[in-house]
Amino acid sequence: MALVPEVSGNEVNGLGEGRTRRARTVYWAVDPETIAHGQMQRFFYRADPDNAAVNRARANREKLLDEAVPSVSGTPVERTPADWLAALRAYAADNECDRVGACRFDPAWLYEGEDETWRTVVMIAVHHDYSEIAHAPDGRAGAEVIRQYGRAAFSAKRIAGWLRAQGWPAEPVTGPMTGKILLIPPAIEAGFGELGKHGSIIDPEFGSSFRLSAVLTDAPIEPTPKAEHGIDDFCMNCRICEDACPPEAIAPEKQQVRGETKWYVDFDKCLPFFNEHHGCAICIAECPWSRPGVGLNLAQKLARRRERG
Ligand code: SF4
Ligand code: SF4
Repeated sequence: MALVPEVSGNEVNGLGEGRTRRARTVYWAVDPETIAHGQMQRFFYRADPDNAAVNRARANREKLLDEAVPSVSGTPVERTPADWLAALRAYAADNECDRVGACRFDPAWLYEGEDETWRTVVMIAVHHDYSEIAHAPDGRAGAEVIRQYGRAAFSAKRIAGWLRAQGWPAEPVTGPMTGKILLIPPAIEAGFGELGKHGSIIDPEFGSSFRLSAVLTDAPIEPTPKAEHGIDDFCMNCRICEDACPPEAIAPEKQQVRGETKWYVDFDKCLPFFNEHHGCAICIAECPWSRPGVGLNLAQKLARRRERG
C-alpha cells in the first residue's frame, strides 16, 4: 500500500467520464516508469521471489519473447479473404493457438498517443488448464497464467512470421504488456465472447479461463462474426464473482467508462490484493462459465429460453 500513487487508477482509466476517448495505460506498461502505478507494477515481480513454479514459467516466457520474428519477404501472396481465414485457422491450430479469429482494425482501440493504421487484427486465445487456475489465488494459478501468456506470445509470433513470409507486414502483440492496443475490444469484435461482470471476456467453451494475444497485419483476412450468448443478461442475475472477490472490487452495476456503459472492476480495490496474490484470478476461477463442461450447457439453456421467448 506504501507504493499506491496519489492518482486513482479509476481516474486514469476514465471511470465516470461521459466523453469517448482512447484508453490510457493504467498497469502493465512496457516501461513502468511511464505510469503512475509503475512502482506497484515493479512490486508484482518482487512479491514472491522464491516461488519455483512462477520463476520457471517466467523464464520460459522470457525465452519465447526474445525469439526474433522473420522480416517481411517477397511479393504479398494474394488469396480471397475467406481463403486467408481458412489458411490462418490451419496454421494457428498447429502453433499453440486454441482459438483464432479476425476483425477489421479500429484505431479507437489504440492507447492514447499511439498512431498506427492496419487492415486486420488477428486475435488468438489460449485456454488455461482449469485444474491449475482453480488454485487461485495460490502461486500455482499465477504460474498457469504466465505459462498461457507464453503460449499466446509464441502463437502470435509464429503467425506474424507466417504472414511476413508471405509478403505481408505483421506485428505480434503479446500480453500482458501489449504496449499499444487494448485486446478485449477486438477479441469481442472477433467473436471471442462477451464482457463479464468481472471485467474479463466469457465464452461458452472456455468460460473466462483464457489469455489473449494478437497480430496486427495488412493481410485481408475475413473477419469472424461477433458472438452473443446471453452472457451479459446472465451476469445481471449472478453475483458469484462479486461475492468471491476478497477486496469487493467487482461493481454490482455497470458503470460509465470513457463514454461507454459497461461492467467494471474497481482498479484501486483489486490491485493491492492482485499484487500480493500472484495476479489473483479468483473471479476467473469462480465464474461458473469457466468450469469445464458447464459453459456449453449454460449457453444451450439460454438459447432454448430465448427461443421460447
Ligand atoms: S482479480 Fe481478484 S481482486 Fe481482482 S477483481 Fe478478480 S477476484 Fe477481485
Ligand atoms: S461469476 Fe457470474 S456475474 Fe461474475 S462474470 Fe461470471 S457469470 Fe458473470
